[in-house]
Amino acid sequence: MGDGGTGAPHGSSSPPGLPAPRVSSAAVREESHVRRRIDARCGPRSPAAKTAEPESALIRLEADIDPEGMFGRQILEVTDRAVRVLTPGGAVAFRIPIKEIKSARNEPLVGGGRLLLTTRAGECVPIISYSLTLAARFSEAARGIEQLARGEPLLVNLPEERLRCARCLRLLPEKDGVCPACVDRNKTFRRILSYLHPYRRQALLLTVLAILQTLVNLVPPQIQGAIIDGVLTTHKNLHLLFGWVAAWLGVVVVSTCVQIGTGRLIAFLAGSIAADLRASLYRAIEFLQVSYFDKR
Ligand SMILES: [Zn+2]
Repeated sequence: MGDGGTGAPHGSSSPPGLPAPRVSSAAVREESHVRRRIDARCGPRSPAAKTAEPESALIRLEADIDPEGMFGRQILEVTDRAVRVLTPGGAVAFRIPIKEIKSARNEPLVGGGRLLLTTRAGECVPIISYSLTLAARFSEAARGIEQLARGEPLLVNLPEERLRCARCLRLLPEKDGVCPACVDRNKTFRRILSYLHPYRRQALLLTVLAILQTLVNLVPPQIQGAIIDGVLTTHKNLHLLFGWVAAWLGVVVVSTCVQIGTGRLIAFLAGSIAADLRASLYRAIEFLQVSYFDKR
């Protein structure tokens, strides 16, 4: 049993266009029989369960498919003593002690999957169904249940996914992402500025050249004024005119040299910093865990 009729659609009870993962009715009947047997032996109303409470949850996952295979809520709770399925109200719908479990696995269905437990008596019982978006988390839960069943320490990777910013409660652009409203822009600017550190001499030279460029640009209007006032209107001194024109030419040459220097420095700094940024980005990608790429 267990695999019987996996994924057979059951159109009448699914929302249009969004079929929930289903199994055939014969399989469901047989599975519920097994569930009742386990329930009677060690379920929430059994004497063993009553004396064992309270238990602290090691894993708590919310599933999005209800026991009828419709979209709904169910909660899977794994404690150090038992695996429990809770209703949205918090009542225990199903309970099986860890010591009764031999193995746990995930069965893929159409559009989702379900968590199957095999008991030490050899019974296979599906305990909770979920849609495809939750498959990775429930597969991690199955791994955790197996670790507990084997008496090993629980080592699962089930981080809490943040959907909202903790500070301003805005929705994040992506799960566990950075809130664009709360990001410290000064810190970002300082971080970008740190890329300038290896080129501080060139950056200082660029600042000096920029100031020089501004000063040089102030000279030609002064020369124009001197030519108009001293040469063209009153004295008509041609020697003075040649002197001023020579000075003007000198200023143009200096200005052009400063412009060439500034352009070359900007191109050098922009290219070098972009290359450094790309190299550190590539390095950061190399050190990411495989699970990061799995999520994409
Ligand atoms: Zn925020």
